[in-house]
Amino acid sequence: MGKAVSDSSDLAWRCGVCGYIHRGPTPPESCPVCGAARSDFEAYHPPAAPPAPAAEGWRCTNCGYVHKAAGPPEECPVCGAVKGDFVPATAAATGEPVRAVGTVVVLGAGIAGLSAVEALRQASPKTRIVLLAREGHLPYYRLNLTRYLAGQFSRKELPLHPKTWYDENRVELLTGVEAVALSPQDRSVQTSDGRTIVYDKLILTAGAHPFVPPLPGASLAGVHSLRTVDDADAILAALRPDVRAVVIGGGILGIETAAALARRGAAVALLESHAWLMPRQLNRRAGELLAQYVVGAGVQLITEARTRELAGDGCVSGVLLDDGRTVPADLVVLATGVRSNSHLARKAGLEVNQGVVVDNRLGTSAADILAAGDVCEHHGVQYGNWAAAQFQGAIAGMNAAGLAVEFGGIPRSNTLKVLGVDLVSTGLFEPADGSYLLADREAEGTYFRFVLHDGLLVGAVMLGDAAPAGRIKKAIESRRDFSAVIPGGPTVQAVLDHLPE
Ligand SMILES: Cc1cc2nc3c(=O)[nH]c(=O)nc-3n(C[C@H](O)[C@H](O)[C@H](O)COP(=O)(O)OP(=O)(O)OC[C@H]3O[C@@H](n4cnc5c(N)ncnc54)[C@H](O)[C@@H]3O)c2cc1C
Repeated sequence: MGKAVSDSSDLAWRCGVCGYIHRGPTPPESCPVCGAARSDFEAYHPPAAPPAPAAEGWRCTNCGYVHKAAGPPEECPVCGAVKGDFVPATAAATGEPVRAVGTVVVLGAGIAGLSAVEALRQASPKTRIVLLAREGHLPYYRLNLTRYLAGQFSRKELPLHPKTWYDENRVELLTGVEAVALSPQDRSVQTSDGRTIVYDKLILTAGAHPFVPPLPGASLAGVHSLRTVDDADAILAALRPDVRAVVIGGGILGIETAAALARRGAAVALLESHAWLMPRQLNRRAGELLAQYVVGAGVQLITEARTRELAGDGCVSGVLLDDGRTVPADLVVLATGVRSNSHLARKAGLEVNQGVVVDNRLGTSAADILAAGDVCEHHGVQYGNWAAAQFQGAIAGMNAAGLAVEFGGIPRSNTLKVLGVDLVSTGLFEPADGSYLLADREAEGTYFRFVLHDGLLVGAVMLGDAAPAGRIKKAIESRRDFSAVIPGGPTVQAVLDHLPE
């Protein structure tokens, strides 16, 4: 466990697993968000942030009553709620009309939305919860769609909870219903089926959509992306014996999709415009070694393949590259990145950068609107991964219930499914300048790279063996001092030997 930040009473501890911030003299016994043990907590060093508004009293989270005194009352004089239901009221909050946390609308039923619902229901048994789900399905494991495509995961294994769970937990799940406009002024959401739902708190968890590059032919029949179970079904429906599939984009999604289609018996070409796979997460050597697994899975890999156009007459027939080559295709899957579903927030006047901008409490620039998951941007970071969406969702749900919980960020890491190769890439994978040190090792089908700076471990790549991943994450998070392994040049073994237990 790390040392406390300071001697003052304002000590904070961050959960190394989910990023939850606990304020108090010591870390909690276990994390209320992800259940991690006390030993997973480390001292939290907050990023420079604007100072929080001064507390001007105590607000009852049940009815909104503000008690102007140094401490909370024993009992709320308005609704009888107990002392523990009071939270510090800020100057901004006390200037607002007092509102009860009666209805919370959760906009988007992915993992962020569902985690928000779960945390909210646990913290606030009486709150009315409305969960808007544009897709006409029960919320499901989106990250398992490539396994579903590969035939490794069945349709009935996809839902996160059965229908009965929503009834038992009094969650009004509206499947097939899209939010079409937000009105922060009168705290309402308009939906595609003509309802206007008034909220006390709104949690935006609308996720992201595939980025479709502006290529000629991108709208031809046979051109797909993979974000939803309907997308997966459309791709599966297009699989015939001898189908020639081309996947554009050699990131995680592209690699997994290509491997999944190859498992289904398609002849698959994977196109990557860079010289190696996963160029945003891997150094060249790691990308080249990964390519051996991809080729071993029966995928034809074409690097430095810049797509100029998708050719075809009504239906796609090939991918035309900048260098003049054409790769024949009956089916094309674009795996060229995602973009935040931020348009409703932008139209409603919320601060949006690449995603909807949130603070540590997952609050947006609009009163009573929080955001979590792929839709949001926290300290300039859009995680775009399952774990962050899950943890942010839970923290937003707790805050919507009137608690005061913060998200302090988590290391970004990636792992590969479907191919059956362990791959972890976290933090930096290349030196930013000459002051960074590298340790590389390639042996017996495994590859390790560690990046060190100022005596600290700042990044790691592991291919073929991800066993030390947890301890590496902990070493990065806790800012473990690796100065002892640096004299004479750090080696992979010395770094491994110096990892925390
Ligand atoms: C095929 C695939 C494989 C993946 N594999 C991994 C992996 O291995 N590991 C990993 O960490 N991450 C993986 N990811 C990424 C991960 O799934 C996402 O980061 C995560 O699902 C984001 O969750 P979210 O709840 O923020 O958004 P989403 O899952 O996108 O959910 C948002 C939901 O909101 C709905 N919505 C949007 N707008 C509206 C509206 N106006 N009204 C109502 N509903 C709306 C959407 O339809 C959607 O259902 C994968 C993603 C895909 C597509």
